[in-house]
Amino acid sequence: MSSVRYANVTCQYPGAERPSVTDLNLDIADGEFLVLVGPSGCGKSTTLRMLAGLEEVTGGNIYIGDRDVTDVPSRDRDIAMVFQNYALYPHMTVAENMGFALKIAKISPEERRRRVEDAAKILDLTDYLDRKPKALSGGQRQRVAMGRAIVRSPQVFLMDEPLSNLDAKLRVQTRTQIASLTRRLGVTTVYVTHDQVEAMTMGDRVAVLKDGLLMQVDTPRALYDRPATEFVAGFIGSPAMNLFRAPVTTGVGSGATVQLGTVAVPLTRAQQESLTGDRVTVGIRPEDMHPAAEGTGLPIEADVVEELGADAFVYGHLAPVTAANTVVPVDNTTGAEEDPTVHEFIVRVEGRTPPRAGTTVWVAPDLEHVHLFDAATGRRLPD
Ligand code: ADP
Ligand code: MG
Repeated sequence: MSSVRYANVTCQYPGAERPSVTDLNLDIADGEFLVLVGPSGCGKSTTLRMLAGLEEVTGGNIYIGDRDVTDVPSRDRDIAMVFQNYALYPHMTVAENMGFALKIAKISPEERRRRVEDAAKILDLTDYLDRKPKALSGGQRQRVAMGRAIVRSPQVFLMDEPLSNLDAKLRVQTRTQIASLTRRLGVTTVYVTHDQVEAMTMGDRVAVLKDGLLMQVDTPRALYDRPATEFVAGFIGSPAMNLFRAPVTTGVGSGATVQLGTVAVPLTRAQQESLTGDRVTVGIRPEDMHPAAEGTGLPIEADVVEELGADAFVYGHLAPVTAANTVVPVDNTTGAEEDPTVHEFIVRVEGRTPPRAGTTVWVAPDLEHVHLFDAATGRRLPD
């Protein structure tokens, strides 16, 4: 077992115009379960494959423990990788598949058998050791792929979207199993997914990547409560945070504020001083907006009301009322400004008395849970 360190790591593929991963600095503690998350193409697999020794590092260094492995061949890095397509050998039994790497490493048949049986016990595969992969369910095959990694007792597990081929229900079950298993084994794990819910439920910490850049690495709680950038704010959380752009107004005596409909959100002096322009992006999670008296806050026309029992989600859009015209909604993934009459606005309300679809609901934010970002740089303003 070991820690992992990326120090100023860059990967630019031959012929590519720009790096796929740029100047990555990331420390992963011994035994930690770290998730790399971000949209497709943001550089997750490249980051993982550099650690595995499958892609060339074009700048910086990677360490496993104290050892600089930047130029060490993959087979000498003492890592085990689990991919999306489990790539089991169809003609081998489960036991042979699991023990194959040990056979190549010339481990004795007795030792091999012992390790395979131990792993099978942990993974609940004991009764399937003599079967061929085609006689297994998707979830069982996935566990065999895990078993292949476990038997090697590596320093680090590397997993690249290992659950993508499973159906939704099995994915939820298996993600809990994987997280608890790697913790029980105490093996440092780097896990890649594009699914932020998977990231939040599995990771000790989660590293959010965008366009090859590390946006933030933090505990799931901290990512949720204090997203460092507008992108992280919009990416983490389900349903997603509502984002708007609005001008900062400097009132007489009362200091700078941002107007959310009729509600003025005050900016602290530190926030005001760190602004690079005159506009902010305001983020409010669906649970941090509450129904307010008519004429207070923002008017939302409810398009769909999703009743979940304990609570309900109102999916709507800003009603075309002048009071609300100071804010422009922002798309969560692209950061682009959108037409207020079309942009989806989400509010969580009490389940017993939800508004009806087609009606207008006035909502006001919980001021202590409003997130503010510099609209020009996307960076969080100091709290
Ligand atoms: P992710 O796993 O987050 O979807 P990848 O790490 O696979 O992202 O890819 C990051 C970027 O690098 C993408 O723009 C992708 O097109 C590019 N890329 C990935 N592999 C190669 C390659 N072998 N050669 C050139 N470009 C690549
Ligand atoms: Mg990938």
